[in-house]
Amino acid sequence: MMLLVLSIPFFLHYAVAQEPKALSIGGIQAKAGTRTSGFIPVPAGVDSATHIPVTIVRGTRPGPVLALVAGTHGYEYSPILALNRLAKKFDPTQLRGTVIIVHVSNMPSYMRRTVYYNPWDWKNLNRVYPGKPDGTVTERIAHVITKNIIEQCDYLVDLHCGDGNESLRPYSYWMKIDNPSVDEVSKQMTLAFGFDHIVIDDERPRDPGQSVYCSNTAATRGKPAITVESGGLGSMDEEWIDYIENGIWNLLRHFSMIDGKPSYVEHPIWIERSEVLRSAVTGVLLPRVKRGEYVQKGTLLAVINDFFGNQIAEVRAPFAGVLLYILGTPPINAGEPVAFVGQPTNEAR
Ligand SMILES: [Zn+2]
Repeated sequence: MMLLVLSIPFFLHYAVAQEPKALSIGGIQAKAGTRTSGFIPVPAGVDSATHIPVTIVRGTRPGPVLALVAGTHGYEYSPILALNRLAKKFDPTQLRGTVIIVHVSNMPSYMRRTVYYNPWDWKNLNRVYPGKPDGTVTERIAHVITKNIIEQCDYLVDLHCGDGNESLRPYSYWMKIDNPSVDEVSKQMTLAFGFDHIVIDDERPRDPGQSVYCSNTAATRGKPAITVESGGLGSMDEEWIDYIENGIWNLLRHFSMIDGKPSYVEHPIWIERSEVLRSAVTGVLLPRVKRGEYVQKGTLLAVINDFFGNQIAEVRAPFAGVLLYILGTPPINAGEPVAFVGQPTNEAR
């Protein structure tokens, strides 16, 4: 009895001392043990203002800050839907550290249902990082995310799927930037996320001032980051959403942000050589293979007709490999991606 009486005040003192301080992100105040949502403003500049819906789940116990970013491309629904659900499922009283959820980075694209581009300035948000405070709307969104999300997090997951015109099989990117400690943690994040096809990409810029991509903006600032892809063609299928939810829960276990034993991809299919195949012509695209198929060098992947039904181009596989994505709708402009082929490597990593 004596022991119990003595231990209670000590425990309370310990709990208070360990409780993380409130966090302020883009004007949103998140106290320990709470879930807080709001919009981070992107002020007007050369064009109109917009805003970014964000949820901050702040645990009662110390731990890392994990940023989950969806909706860079507004027609990519499975990540948006997964985070919409997880925002309600994360329990701040059980969490160690903080999860920052960016529900829809690119609201103009989401609202107008555009692929690749923000319809206000026709720029691709995942090509303008770290952004500019005085640029056009896409550059200002990138700047707001760099300052408020990326610079405040320890780890980042940039969540994508095939865009509204892309049929895709799930895979993730391990982006290496010649920083061994960052690269190793990023690699472990891809294995924890759980997608067995992992594209190794060491061609991203190293300059934090010209980081171009969202996750590369984090990595070049010393924060391990991955990009994951699950879903496509505007799909709301549960299968693609489940993959993402499961990956995020396991990542939380990997970082000890929640209890439980993490699992890892047992037999990763590392893809060292990969190529985005682009169309030489504008016209009507007809795919000839399905996502996830294994193709040989020279396999016909798609034909492109003119607007009168005459074939004007073919797209063939440049090497044997797996089809990570292929367009699933007819419109194609010269220079745009048609398919992404990856060649699995036999080497262990
Ligand atoms: Zn995307």
